[in-house]
Amino acid sequence: MSRKFSYLEFDEILSSLKNGYKIFAPKRFKGIGTYSDTDVIRYGEISEVSEMVTDEKSGYSVKEAYFPITQTLFYFFDDTTKTPKIDEKEIIIFLRPCDINSITALDKVFLENGNIKDVYYDGLRSKVKIFMLECRDGFDNCFCVAMDANKTESYDAAFRFADNEILCEIKNEDFLQLFQSKGSEMEFTPEFVEKDHVEVNIPKVDKISLEMFDDSMWSEYSKRCIACGRCNFVCPTCSCWTMQDVEYEGNPNAGERRRVWASCHVDRYSDMAGGHSFRRSNGERMRFKVFHKIYDFNKRFGFNMCTGCGRCDDICPEYISYAKAINKVTKLTQGGT
Ligand code: SF4
Ligand code: SF4
Repeated sequence: MSRKFSYLEFDEILSSLKNGYKIFAPKRFKGIGTYSDTDVIRYGEISEVSEMVTDEKSGYSVKEAYFPITQTLFYFFDDTTKTPKIDEKEIIIFLRPCDINSITALDKVFLENGNIKDVYYDGLRSKVKIFMLECRDGFDNCFCVAMDANKTESYDAAFRFADNEILCEIKNEDFLQLFQSKGSEMEFTPEFVEKDHVEVNIPKVDKISLEMFDDSMWSEYSKRCIACGRCNFVCPTCSCWTMQDVEYEGNPNAGERRRVWASCHVDRYSDMAGGHSFRRSNGERMRFKVFHKIYDFNKRFGFNMCTGCGRCDDICPEYISYAKAINKVTKLTQGGT
């Protein structure tokens, strides 16, 4: 079923949805960008359409809506523990097709990577309803077509935000009654981006060999990368985290254990007791990130752990391009240097 709405009508729909859902969408956060007087587009809760940014890429990914930057796993008091309550409200997220595909990748990591589901991830993820933002042109540094992440059918509803109206396809019957109470019927089928902004050639997994792990191409990244971790924090599919125990002031036997996002690029991430470190140089860390996303994840699950969103290339202060690193690996698989 598809319909069109005026912006005012759609605000009324959002207002009704707010009773049962937390609604997340890309928003503008003024004046907190990297450079002075610049803004950040990232995900946040919205109440009306005017808060949404639908014509720019969000610099940060959608994952913080269901995989929070910091999440309390349990509270401890002397010898007892208690898990926190999960907000009863369901979650609606407006997001682009590549980001919907990024959720599929995170689901593999947290829900299908062994016999036990990650209950903390599952607790929020199972509440998520997906409202797809149509994306027909992509943005700078996007290569979702090469990554086969430009299309999806996994959404509850899909939207085109045109100048004076909002076109909508509704798939999930739970939303039919509300959406039918406003607007008017209209044919609408979402379209998808068909051409990338940057050319990326994906290597064939069976052509990647162990010798490529020792190739001199990785030493370039030891010189250029400053191990800031920004590329990981904006990435919709990076899933690494670490633990922090927070003791409450005045009582070391009371506090909470938190899961906090971490980065495979940052110093000490791969350190072990006894002083061993798996990846000391920044080039080794870049190599790990690249091969993790286009080689070992793919070998295990059959698709790449990268959606080609280009956020890592957008954010890197050293202008390191993950897309170019993939192209270099592909060249190696073809016998080039
Ligand atoms: S392009 Fe970069 S940020 Fe986007 S999914 Fe791939 S590795 Fe992550
Ligand atoms: S690749 Fe760029 S963004 Fe990522 S850790 Fe290195 S310098 Fe930072």
